[in-house]
Amino acid sequence: MRYRESGRLDTSGVQDRRGGGGGGRGLAVGGGGLGLVGVLVLVLFQVLGGGGGGGDAASALGGQLGSLGQGQTADNTQLDQQCQTGEDANESVDCAVVADIESIQDYWAGVLGDRYVPTDTVFFSGSVQTSCGGATSGSGPFYCPADQLVYIDLTFFETLQEQFGAEGGLFVNAYVLAHEYGHHVQNLLGINQQVTPGETGPESGTVRLELQADCFAGTWADHAETVPDESGEPLISEINDDDIDRALDAAGRIGDDFIQRELGGGTVDQDTFTHGSSEQRRQWFSTGYRTGDLQQCDTFATDDLG
Ligand SMILES: [Zn+2]
Repeated sequence: MRYRESGRLDTSGVQDRRGGGGGGRGLAVGGGGLGLVGVLVLVLFQVLGGGGGGGDAASALGGQLGSLGQGQTADNTQLDQQCQTGEDANESVDCAVVADIESIQDYWAGVLGDRYVPTDTVFFSGSVQTSCGGATSGSGPFYCPADQLVYIDLTFFETLQEQFGAEGGLFVNAYVLAHEYGHHVQNLLGINQQVTPGETGPESGTVRLELQADCFAGTWADHAETVPDESGEPLISEINDDDIDRALDAAGRIGDDFIQRELGGGTVDQDTFTHGSSEQRRQWFSTGYRTGDLQQCDTFATDDLG
């Protein structure tokens, strides 16, 4: 995957809140993330000796860690200087993410027209306050429906490789962002409102939402090389088989079963699934990518989730 060297980058879709004093320590509660909340909950169970729901455990530990810090303000000065062209995106992960966000939002604006309302991604470092509560890097990237923002600590991409053993790469990072913007689209279209919050299990609405977000990431990927930017040319080119393999590899490492088995102590409990199995996540990303057709992403209309 490459970014068009002459392409102009625009950081207006990003709020860089990494600098400054930083906040206190908070914890993410609830879903909407890429899948790491499950890890967090499992770790919390170990810390607290089990018992209660994940949310209870999380708030209990949140209490131990103290209240949230002050809100962080966005400052894009550095990012603006650093990320000006597609050439910068080819050389810097941060700038590549800026370009991904542009491409993803251009795609959705093209598909949904006026129904698509652009939204920002917040870059944070360590912890962040959101309208969905406080969050730390440990919960992974996530979308908060209450403030309609995507949140990511960019060090997550290293975590994905080092802790989850993913191959990683620029296209994997783009997949992660495209998944989160998939949740934004679900929110704009009212899809997530049909799902009971906190519902878990292999057939649950929660899992269907996550698999659909993977499928939406796939449809974006299919169109990424043709979606025009402001100048009329696509920002992204040369998505190859290796990129797709890496995205599938990443999807396979953030499935509930993989996380529970490899990182959560070994036991796989389908009843607690929130994001779907590794195979399902691979399959739904593939469905989106292969067809490029949103109609194929109706995970709520099928009895066969894979
Ligand atoms: Zn998700």
